[in-house]
Amino acid sequence: MTRECTAALFDGPGDGFTLATMELAPLNDGEVLVEVTACAVCGSDLHTISGRRPCPQHTVLGHEIVGRVIDTRGPVADWSGGPLAPGDRITWSIAASCGSCFYCTRDLPQKCLQLTKYGHADPGQDGPLGGFSSHCRLLPGTAIFRLPPGLSDLEAVPANCCTATSVAAVRMADPISGAVLLVLGAGSLGLTIAEFALHNSASNVIIADIDPSRLDQATTIAGCTPLLLDPSPDDTSTGRPEVIDNLTDGHGVDVAIDVSGATSAIEAALGWLRIGGQAILVGSVFESPPIPLDPQDVVRRMLRISGLHNYRPRDLQAALAFLAELPSHSVSRTLVGASFPLSDIDRAVEVAHSRTHLRVAITPTD
Ligand SMILES: [Zn+2]
Ligand SMILES: [Zn+2]
Repeated sequence: MTRECTAALFDGPGDGFTLATMELAPLNDGEVLVEVTACAVCGSDLHTISGRRPCPQHTVLGHEIVGRVIDTRGPVADWSGGPLAPGDRITWSIAASCGSCFYCTRDLPQKCLQLTKYGHADPGQDGPLGGFSSHCRLLPGTAIFRLPPGLSDLEAVPANCCTATSVAAVRMADPISGAVLLVLGAGSLGLTIAEFALHNSASNVIIADIDPSRLDQATTIAGCTPLLLDPSPDDTSTGRPEVIDNLTDGHGVDVAIDVSGATSAIEAALGWLRIGGQAILVGSVFESPPIPLDPQDVVRRMLRISGLHNYRPRDLQAALAFLAELPSHSVSRTLVGASFPLSDIDRAVEVAHSRTHLRVAITPTD
């Protein structure tokens, strides 16, 4: 039986999408065919759509995906080893990794030498490897997770990028218990980091942004203090904000996590760390101006500066458990503020660009 799917093919920056009917080739061993029930428009999709990140023409974008198993070729297990069957509600790691290369064997599967990233892959002949489509094909080496029964598709859809990356960032900052955390950037990722850190007993999270409207949501999170930054680099690099001094007895924050990618904010935050503090950089995924680093300052103040790109499968497992434990009204569970059928993808992208909602999703089965 020949199967077909409908996919939104990316025509290139400024040209939008074309809906196309594609034939799905028979599955290869170890592959899974998924009916996509929701796919969120992530910030990195918007970077691709705007032309800030190169991408082959006619790629099927979208990597924050949840769906239902339609078929498998041979037995395929989820991350916990349980066999997958048609009808299972799942999400999966944003990339398939080989498990045996130099980086996979060093616990960096997101840097696998044979990595295939969903929503970024060259358009293949076998069917879509992205979520702006009625169906997605999962390759061997993909870490697959069943969705907790209490989570709706729209609550779970940010899990495999936004939530899992947030979990990974806070894990790098471990031990977080009792810590005062500074998060730079009050979008989906920053707010989820704040909620996850507080869920793991951080004492306070200061969440900073240059846009006051983006700080509104932060005020709804108990234990979270908004901090409006001046966008002028001269101002952000001088003087520690009073709120940091008040919450840390003048010592500086234990941990600063940057998801903004704004180099002036990162430079300022390095000065706002306490002795022995840690900076974790997550948002700098595009070319940006370098920042001066005084080695003596790093040594004498015993600073740690780390980079994080994507996450490991166990972070996605923890992300799903976290979302399921949160109250249903929490920010991390309600990031998706609007959803659109696949045929309205141009409208969905337009709304996502407007930043009216923290996340916008495509629901291809509607
Ligand atoms: Zn993403
Ligand atoms: Zn590998």
